[in-house]
Amino acid sequence: MIPIKNAREIDKMRQACRTAGSILHKVSDLIRPGITTKEVDQAAADFMSDAGVKSAFLGYRLGHRVFPGNICISLNDEVVHGIGGQRRIQYGDVVKLDIGIIQDGWVGDNATTVPVGIIEERTDQLLRATEHALARAISAVHEGGRVGDICAEIEDEARRNGFSVVREFVGHGVGRKMHEEPQIPNYGKRGSGPKLKAGMTLAIEPMINIGTSDVRLLEDGWTVCTADGLPSAHFEHTVLVTKDEPEILTWRAKTQLK
Ligand code: MG
Repeated sequence: MIPIKNAREIDKMRQACRTAGSILHKVSDLIRPGITTKEVDQAAADFMSDAGVKSAFLGYRLGHRVFPGNICISLNDEVVHGIGGQRRIQYGDVVKLDIGIIQDGWVGDNATTVPVGIIEERTDQLLRATEHALARAISAVHEGGRVGDICAEIEDEARRNGFSVVREFVGHGVGRKMHEEPQIPNYGKRGSGPKLKAGMTLAIEPMINIGTSDVRLLEDGWTVCTADGLPSAHFEHTVLVTKDEPEILTWRAKTQLK
């Protein structure tokens, strides 16, 4: 069952997502050479506590594993679920920030990829293609459409640029829980999958790789890396399905889209 939110619940989602977007904006602004990923994680925790909200990721359980970070911070070939630590961000890195918060019982989820200074040309193309994939995916969100329409836009944009999509991790419905129905893979067929209805809230999150789509898990049990060590990019918004234009609930002024 895909939850449909009523007007009051949508308003709660709007508030949670607005907070998630503004914290992502503030954390993005801190990214610079020399800062450790732990310092970035701690700053995010401070922004959350200032806003009176909680991390949706801290303490997240997967089997017997418990996620120890406040946000996910993943560098270069790390795809998702990286944990803040002593590593220092360097000029030329690409930093993926994934921030999910719980406000008043509702979850807002969003992510971006921040280039640190001038990055390699192919990596720059990857970031642009991944953010374009997200924009195309969002444009497929409307009542009466299908989940597969969203998936196909992402896969098309990746392929058009000669990139590959990560298959092991997917977008998802989001609301009272971080992961609700439906799953939204970054590949699929137009016209397939569940029908979209007004009041659904979806976290759409293309994860696109320069090289192979294959990934591997690091020994920390969380960090997912590309199998070939080439860079990966990740952008995410939480979006409301309406009868007309989709509403991007995690909208923030700052964007890397060129
Ligand atoms: Mg997500």
